[in-house]
Amino acid sequence: MPEGPEIKRAADKIAAILDGEVIDRCFIQPAGLRRYRPVLTGARVEAVRPRGKALLTRFDNGLTLYSHNQLYGRWYTTRLDKQPSTNRSLRIALHTLTHSAWLYSASDIAILDDDALQAHPFLQSLGPDILDPNLHWRDILRQLQSPSFNRRSLASLYLDQHFIAGIGNYLRTEILFFAGLSPWTKPIELSLAELGKLARCTLTITQRAYQTGGITNPVKFHRRLKSQGKHREVYRFATFERDGKACYQCGTRIKRVEVNARRLYYCAQCQAVIRPPGSTA
Ligand SMILES: [Zn+2]
Repeated sequence: MPEGPEIKRAADKIAAILDGEVIDRCFIQPAGLRRYRPVLTGARVEAVRPRGKALLTRFDNGLTLYSHNQLYGRWYTTRLDKQPSTNRSLRIALHTLTHSAWLYSASDIAILDDDALQAHPFLQSLGPDILDPNLHWRDILRQLQSPSFNRRSLASLYLDQHFIAGIGNYLRTEILFFAGLSPWTKPIELSLAELGKLARCTLTITQRAYQTGGITNPVKFHRRLKSQGKHREVYRFATFERDGKACYQCGTRIKRVEVNARRLYYCAQCQAVIRPPGSTA
């Protein structure tokens, strides 16, 4: 399932053709939503933004198209009426005078007014969005220190969309590596300095992945490997999907484990929690 950076990049592509534009025609496949066709026709798109792993397309008539792609859903953008060739089934199409946005195979689609949007059970339960431009690392620090979360292992916390929305499996692995923390550590066991570093890493690694199209290694480092002719799977991640390979920082072999039924990779050397004996900081 795509994670925050991939979903935000998809939202950016849709926003590039729909934002500020009037919907000239639309197609709505789900029977329960077809009554909205005349309502959305002629409406202007005010914003397209991700919320967790869902996408919200907001219209100037107060309605919002909510779509969650689950495993199979996919948005495409094309010039007007150049329908993509795919075997997936078309659920929604929004056409401006020049472009089309197509949503295929998503099973979780709704059209909501503001009250229904506020009350939506999935949206209501989400933590702060990791790629919200207003999110500060101190907001993440507050989440880490919150009694609701601070006694759980980082491995479990970093997949919980109530904690922070938009982080998935590869970001969990990579953030914990760059923060230098064992996946089994709990926030309550960390010093303020370690929590601060983790909060900043959470933000910077996700923003880096968004800017680079999913690469979490530092830009200079990955460019160097790329210029040496290395493939993307070599330079993309520090530890994710690199089990058995040498850690780029220390040479130790990366390990793979399953935590919460999902793959997690770590370097036992770089991610050991090292404390003076008897320290409780
Ligand atoms: Zn290492």
